[in-house]
Amino acid sequence: MEKLVVTVAPTGSIPSREQNPHVPLTPREIVEDCAACVEAGASVCHIHARDERGRPSGRLDLFREITEGLRRRTDAIIQISTGGRAGSTLEERSRRLDLRPEMASLTTGSVNFPEGVYANPRDLVEALASRMRELNIKPEMEIFDVSMVEGAAALVRQGLADAPLHFNFVLGLRGALPATIKNLLHLAETVPPGSTWTVSGIGRHQLPMAVHAILMGGHVRVGLEDNIYYRKGVPARNVDLVARVVRLARELGREVASPAEARRILGLSGA
Ligand code: ZN
Repeated sequence: MEKLVVTVAPTGSIPSREQNPHVPLTPREIVEDCAACVEAGASVCHIHARDERGRPSGRLDLFREITEGLRRRTDAIIQISTGGRAGSTLEERSRRLDLRPEMASLTTGSVNFPEGVYANPRDLVEALASRMRELNIKPEMEIFDVSMVEGAAALVRQGLADAPLHFNFVLGLRGALPATIKNLLHLAETVPPGSTWTVSGIGRHQLPMAVHAILMGGHVRVGLEDNIYYRKGVPARNVDLVARVVRLARELGREVASPAEARRILGLSGA
């Protein structure tokens, strides 16, 4: 089995200091937290930015400070979120691609999030994909529902993305696909042959989904973006979530990929 690629999603758009005192918010905090996670075995950092008041932000200066800091401090793969919570227009969501991260997230359909519609109309998806292809940025297809797999495959047929694709199955978010083994298995069997995939279990589903993915040959995302607890009632630190999944993988006989190995596994051009 391939080595395990561990992604850390340290911040996201939602968690606040009130909910978890360890969530990194400023660029400096995000860089330091990611550096500790990479030390613990993460090879991909999935990045969102927050402004001075802790609100999700699409500001380029914040994304620049984070990516430059990460490049100085780590050799990790930087994956910038093009999610819409921090701005909804194509311009707001694609500007940060100019920082040339190796990867960026791309959601190929719309979904009802608990706080409102996460709108990804087809023209916006195609424009983001096309910009990523121009800049040689590998998309991570964010899959909240099975139909989004087809939305990603269609981008390849349209010449807007290159196979093999990489997917992230986001399971257990209220309003989207539930975190069950059956759903995970179905998604893993539905992606085009040769694809790689990661699973992000939301909340209490993070740990069991990670263990299934380790055993199935998939990859794993952990972090406070998806889950703020280490166990029931105990606020997590990102580094502890990474260290736990690394420990579990090794116990289950799955080696953990370095950033260089992750580049090869994910088919990044820098490999
Ligand atoms: Zn995200």
